[in-house]
Amino acid sequence: MNPWTQELWRLLGVLLLALGIGLFAGSVAWALVAGLALYLVWQGWRLHRLHAWLSHNPRHEPPELGGLWGEFAYQVSRLARQERKRKKKLAKVLGRFYDSLAAMPDAVVSLDADYNIEWFNQAAGRLLGLKKIDRNRRVTNLVRDPRLSECLASDDTSNRSCALTSPVDDRITLHVRLVPFGKNQHLLLARDVSRLQQLERVRRDFVANVSHELRTPLTVLGGYLETLNGLPASDPRIAPELRPTLKRMEAQTRRMQALVTDLLQLSRLESDPPREEERVNLPALIAAVAEEAGQLAAEKHQQLELRLESRDWLLGSSRELHSAFANLAANAVRYTPEGGHIVIRWYRDAQGGHFEVEDDGRGIAPQHLHRLTERFYRVDEDRSREHGGTGLGLAIVKHVLQRHEAELHISSQLGRGSTFPCDFPPRRLGEPDAAPDTDAATRAAGSGAA
Ligand code: ADP
Repeated sequence: MNPWTQELWRLLGVLLLALGIGLFAGSVAWALVAGLALYLVWQGWRLHRLHAWLSHNPRHEPPELGGLWGEFAYQVSRLARQERKRKKKLAKVLGRFYDSLAAMPDAVVSLDADYNIEWFNQAAGRLLGLKKIDRNRRVTNLVRDPRLSECLASDDTSNRSCALTSPVDDRITLHVRLVPFGKNQHLLLARDVSRLQQLERVRRDFVANVSHELRTPLTVLGGYLETLNGLPASDPRIAPELRPTLKRMEAQTRRMQALVTDLLQLSRLESDPPREEERVNLPALIAAVAEEAGQLAAEKHQQLELRLESRDWLLGSSRELHSAFANLAANAVRYTPEGGHIVIRWYRDAQGGHFEVEDDGRGIAPQHLHRLTERFYRVDEDRSREHGGTGLGLAIVKHVLQRHEAELHISSQLGRGSTFPCDFPPRRLGEPDAAPDTDAATRAAGSGAA
């Protein structure tokens, strides 16, 4: 029966009993009042038992109360049982989650909005030296490295990472990433990259050593071949049928020398920290690059135009910048057919300074663009070799630009030409020391001057 109906029948029964007794005793009203009072006391007693059960041992079976209160106790106990089951399940999941985080070889630290430590795994203790008492303390007070403070202060919240030396062991290098989650919270992930770095160092040293060892014998070989090829055709010491072979040998030796030089330059760019930086006079440097490229362009009857639209200095290494700009200019000449048009340009705007080499050569298909700066990546291997390319030019450009906080953005259209813009940040540039003098600066090198 429905507990409400049961309760109503019970009340009705009490009232009827009281009425009967009242009629028998001759005082109906008093009997009804006494009946109701008894009913209320009984309800109060059941309520008291329910309260006692709820406040002391709700985990036990509810008391036998019957009626509405019994139903109420049963429903409460059912909900409590369900809730306990849910909690147990959640605790199990959470336990497994914490166990897996604890087992991770990488350090994981959860930080609140003010970068105070909320939780960390065992690896964080091992790699960052965090201890239990460090909870609720700011992470930068414990890992005192300015690179971490810089990383936390970075505006680009979607991509914050840095390299740190472990505060526990200075032989360990950590790669740290900060990932936002929840409400202004952050997850700090630190990975031990010492082994990777060591392997990278071994690779770099190996390439540098091999290149260095090859340089001397190649120079000697090149010198001898040059001497032999320089002998007059009438010289009886060289048989005429050997001459083409000797010429090819010299060309191949020069190619290997160029390769060794580029490899050495790349490993220097990778391993040496940037040298002391100077104020590089950009108009002069770019004009020199254009003049050198102009000589090659003249041989191919190409028109090479130089546009210096702003006269700035740039904080950096003139040797490295010269090498990067010369590589881009040489590529433009190399991959543009005879009679083509090349523009070398420097200009400045609110975003910074921009060096650009544009050509109307054969262009590059879009699927190659993102791989061009990889070592030895060539669109057309045979043609690159035939033009004397080493396959390392754009890799050198990328490294030089990285060392100058600049970026290379290649754009190209197959059959129509390519543009290689290098974008330098404004903080590296000095105020122009003269107003732009476009007419005077627009000079032409090579044949067919513009
Ligand atoms: P390489 O010594 O072969 O020129 P780079 O690293 O300088 O090596 O260039 C990589 C490849 O990019 C080249 O082999 C060539 O296919 C392509 N490339 C570079 N510059 C240009 C350009 N201006 N026009 C067309 N293709 C180019």
